[in-house]
Amino acid sequence: MNASTGSPVDAAFLRRWLGAATAAVDREAEHLTQLDSPIGDADHGSNMRRGFLAARTAVEQDPPDTPGGVLITAGRQLISTVGGASGPLYGTLLRRAGKALGDEPAVTAAGLRDALRAGADGVAQLGGAAPGDKTMLDALFPALDALTGALGAGGSVAEAFTAAAQAADEGAKATIPLRARKGRASYLGERSMGHQDPGATSAALLVAAFADTARERAE
Ligand code: ADP
Ligand code: MG
Repeated sequence: MNASTGSPVDAAFLRRWLGAATAAVDREAEHLTQLDSPIGDADHGSNMRRGFLAARTAVEQDPPDTPGGVLITAGRQLISTVGGASGPLYGTLLRRAGKALGDEPAVTAAGLRDALRAGADGVAQLGGAAPGDKTMLDALFPALDALTGALGAGGSVAEAFTAAAQAADEGAKATIPLRARKGRASYLGERSMGHQDPGATSAALLVAAFADTARERAE
């Protein structure tokens, strides 16, 4: 591996990411549900907690030996255990990304980025949302762009995901003034303005978990 690609991302890395993401979702579930109260049905935290706990359990019980396998198993659990819109959408994100990784035992950070972009495109296709519609995509797409920028500039995996996490966080905060055009929040029309989107907020947690996982490995 040369400096521009950094250390490979293997199944163990993705399993650690899933553990970190599940812990973050569990810790922030109350906050996610609070965000889903004024512009939704107050279930985003419980949906995410149920889905990620099931995903982590499935991966722990029968650990896949490829990074793609980890994402596919996790995505399948999200789809089958979460009733809300976020289950099929996040499930599609992870499953599509996992399929894009194929059977490789390890991939580069750029390979992971390409796979996550395929996953985010799958979310946009399934949900019909575009950037600016006040959804999880408003955190995911800026994160992917930041990841591309940082990797292109020669950054390490940890640096690139740290930049991505910051962009996702900024993207989530930037949903506050937006009017929701998709999902339950769109039923509120203008009254959806002035509230941070719960799904963009959870997406930022998932990206931050990548940064934490990569930084721990770098230390
Ligand atoms: P539900 O809206 O069914 O109760 P959740 O509360 O778990 O599901 O998730 C709501 C989040 O899902 C929203 O904050 C938004 O980010 C995301 N979301 C909803 N609809 C879409 C869509 N069509 N495309 C992308 N994301 C969406
Ligand atoms: Mg909801």
